Amino acid sequence: MPRVGVLALQGDVREHVSVLKVLGVQVSTVKTREELAEVEALIIPGGESTTMSHLLEISNLRADLSERLADGLAVLGTCAGLILLSKNISDGRSDQWSFGALDVDVRRNGYGRQVASFETLVEVAGIGKVQSVFIRAPRIERFGSDVEILASLDDGDGPHPVLVRQGAVWGCSFHPELTTDSRIHGMFVESIDASR
Ligand code: GLN
Repeated sequence: MPRVGVLALQGDVREHVSVLKVLGVQVSTVKTREELAEVEALIIPGGESTTMSHLLEISNLRADLSERLADGLAVLGTCAGLILLSKNISDGRSDQWSFGALDVDVRRNGYGRQVASFETLVEVAGIGKVQSVFIRAPRIERFGSDVEILASLDDGDGPHPVLVRQGAVWGCSFHPELTTDSRIHGMFVESIDASR
């Protein structure tokens, strides 16, 4: 079993740790460069992408994580984590940056203000229907040809991907850590094993 880290600068860290424990994975939280060096895969949780990007800078994790991503580190970003992995951000703050590890463009809070938070069932490739929790979620508005779409949602404005994968890097608009269904984390963990 790989050692999976959960980036623990801000956001719903505990929920991801719990799901990984249910799956029997070795988990550690990552706040420092030393802790990052010890993990074989990483989850970037939901939270607030502007705050997390600031904390990544001041903890000196930005450069190390960029390097690990370039080396093929398996990473799953959920919600704010997806924003941080994306190439371009609409409706971001002017000083907001992202790793550009996933060839997608996202719009922050892209599902509209009235429906800022909602739950729905989405069909995930290889798994089936999954209850998904959207909280001020980013909407994927462009994706490159190397991006595999594992689930999409039509919110009345046409279908947009909500779970994507590009090699070892996974992005999810919603919060798979907020339900008791651990299958998306399970897919991610299996993919780490497969790429080792
Ligand atoms: N809207 C938040 C952001 O921009 C993301 C929300 C979430 O992670 N639940 O970071």
